[in-house]
Amino acid sequence: MSAGVDAYVRSTALMGTVVSMQVIGHCATDTERVARDAAVDRAFEWCREIEACCSRFDPTSEVSRLLHHVGEAVPASPMLFGALRFALALAQETGGAFDPTIGHLMEARGDNIAYRTRAIVNTAADASHETNWRDVHVDADAKTVTLLKPLMLDLGAVAKGLAVDLAMRELRDYTNFAIDAGGDLYLGGTNAMRAPWVVGIRHPREVDALIQTLHVSNVAVCTSGDYERRLSSNAPPDEHHIIDPRSRTTASASISATVIASSAMVADALATAAFVIGGRDGIALLEQHSVDGLIISKSLERFATRGLSRYVGAVAS
Ligand code: AMP
Ligand code: MG
Repeated sequence: MSAGVDAYVRSTALMGTVVSMQVIGHCATDTERVARDAAVDRAFEWCREIEACCSRFDPTSEVSRLLHHVGEAVPASPMLFGALRFALALAQETGGAFDPTIGHLMEARGDNIAYRTRAIVNTAADASHETNWRDVHVDADAKTVTLLKPLMLDLGAVAKGLAVDLAMRELRDYTNFAIDAGGDLYLGGTNAMRAPWVVGIRHPREVDALIQTLHVSNVAVCTSGDYERRLSSNAPPDEHHIIDPRSRTTASASISATVIASSAMVADALATAAFVIGGRDGIALLEQHSVDGLIISKSLERFATRGLSRYVGAVAS
């Protein structure tokens, strides 16, 4: 058995979850240690920047401030522009099964508590009820965003992935590292045992059990599960945080969807979209994007892309 390598790990509460970064390898000198710590600092800083840009729970975020400029073309930061453009394209492709304009609907359903301050957000008064992705326009040349109607964007299905991608750019020179933003992962190189990273996909209905393990290297792995319920405690028990915007009700086709892709933003968004669409059609969406994934239906039926088998380890019974 080969000996393990040093692992440096840091975790912080950010973006409504716990973000952990792990860098594998030994630092021989203080200079190397300082450089590594600074790289991890910069990686966390991206998560803070994404939160400050994309959170609908913070009235001062770039996303929240758009609501003061309805009908105007507002210059957007590269982060907001990149996340929103991708999200709107996916909304169009999925016929609205994925829709980044559901902020008000999420709020009305009880996803309305800012995790840091515990303050209850209330933008409902400013936002109209019947809005969808067609009510937002992005100008690719001018890099502006225009809300055509009063609406609150919800980038909850893309922002964590984007933060992981930006953090990954800070750490990739270290080759072997892992980033975990509450189930949105990027795994670089190999782990402390010099082997591919092993990612366990939680069994959506059994506590402390895995439904699948994946062996991966240099990819993002993102999972959307109905067990990650983030609604207030008075919401009905079968309601959770992923909705089907077409019916404006809790998405019920799936209970878990995992996507493996080279970009965490792509994996994050496609996991949410595949969750909503579910089954064979969800898998067809993933194949269309040339990514791999696994969808678990309500009856625990498994739907997988053709390429998933190359990542598959032991199937938990
Ligand atoms: P995830 O846990 O990555 O699947 O993301 C779930 C988050 O995405 C929710 O908390 C909402 O902020 C947002 N969301 C929920 N349903 C949708 C949807 N159908 N389209 C786009 N974003 C969604
Ligand atoms: Mg997602």
